[in-house]
Amino acid sequence: MRDGEFLPYGRQCIEADDIAAVVEVLRSDYLTTGPAVSGFESALADAVGADFAVAVSSGTAALHAAYFAAGVREGDEVIVPATTFVATANAARFLGAEPVFADVDPDTGLIRADEVERLLNEKTRAIAPVHMTGATAPMAAIATLAERVGATVVEDACHALGATIETERVGACRRFSALAAFSFHPVKHVAMGEGGAITGNDPALERRLRQFRNHGITRDPAEFQQPSPGPWYYEQHALGHNLRLTDIQAALGTSQLAKLDRFVAKRRALAQAYDARLAELPHIAPVTTTALAAGSAYHLYAVLLDFEQLGRTRTEVMNGLRARGIGTQVHYIPVTDQPYYTARGVRGEDFPGARRYHARTLSLPLFPGMEVDDVDRVVEALQAVLADAPTP
Ligand SMILES: *Cc1c(COP(=O)(O)O)cnc(C)c1O
Repeated sequence: MRDGEFLPYGRQCIEADDIAAVVEVLRSDYLTTGPAVSGFESALADAVGADFAVAVSSGTAALHAAYFAAGVREGDEVIVPATTFVATANAARFLGAEPVFADVDPDTGLIRADEVERLLNEKTRAIAPVHMTGATAPMAAIATLAERVGATVVEDACHALGATIETERVGACRRFSALAAFSFHPVKHVAMGEGGAITGNDPALERRLRQFRNHGITRDPAEFQQPSPGPWYYEQHALGHNLRLTDIQAALGTSQLAKLDRFVAKRRALAQAYDARLAELPHIAPVTTTALAAGSAYHLYAVLLDFEQLGRTRTEVMNGLRARGIGTQVHYIPVTDQPYYTARGVRGEDFPGARRYHARTLSLPLFPGMEVDDVDRVVEALQAVLADAPTP
């Protein structure tokens, strides 16, 4: 970034070939449900090592469709972490099911397997771990727990395109989950404006995802319940939505996806630069420490600050950084403290891990268009804002 330019916490990286790819679609025959969408689906499936990818209109739509495909319906429970974006929980509500919240590790914001275990019961239809910041949730333990009650594991992988768990790429869904949901919002690894996708390997799940994306309609004669009078015939078997992605978005996504390795490598290099420089600041600890860092895709570079001990509120620190041209963000307010859920009987105080994580977390600027000089700028601004703070 140029010197003095405002550094947001995240932003897209759009290059000339991305723009050319979109313009080409605008001149083509298809603006939606055309070859650019199927091209993106193949490219994404290849990138994560899954048999299929189904593209949809957003990450929220991806979670909604994935829960539907998993058979989530009224009366069911979906276990989700208390620390996440609201969509992970809301997608269960869209289907008349109840999200059941598991507390998170106060230092990583990741769902705790022992909390998941406590919540398991015969109503548990799905478990949706979130790979907070791009570091991965304890998937092996969660997969074992899901098996115990026959629940489907749906990864909320919106932070984790390009991450790995042991030797498996997130989204491959070979060992730990049935489905993984991704978002292509501009701050995520691959930008489409709005967009999402679900990856997996089970053809029956893929069929349900494709049906749900298109109003619950099937055009496959093998699935018809009534005799087909002609080639124009179709049947609606479930209540789906229009969750379709356009070819315009898909063209941008395919062009961006080709750069995923470069983007992730850059994010990791910037994170390492932050780690090295922040080691000199006694008040700040990176959220992603060595054990988690190896496979992280670094959607966010989050740090923990003890604001009470620093004698400054988070708002004061954020405003001080903003005055120095540095944007920051808070990921996330516990969903268990949102009025919509407390009105439904959720008690925020039952989630001390999520509250403790939220009280201390701050996301610093991290995106592929940054350089190490920008990291220096952020760290210098932090030093200035925290000057004279009592040493812990
Ligand atoms: C971004 C995000 C979503 C929602 O994705 P949209 O594309 O904005 O609908 C869901 N869960 C998590 C963890 C996210 O970061």
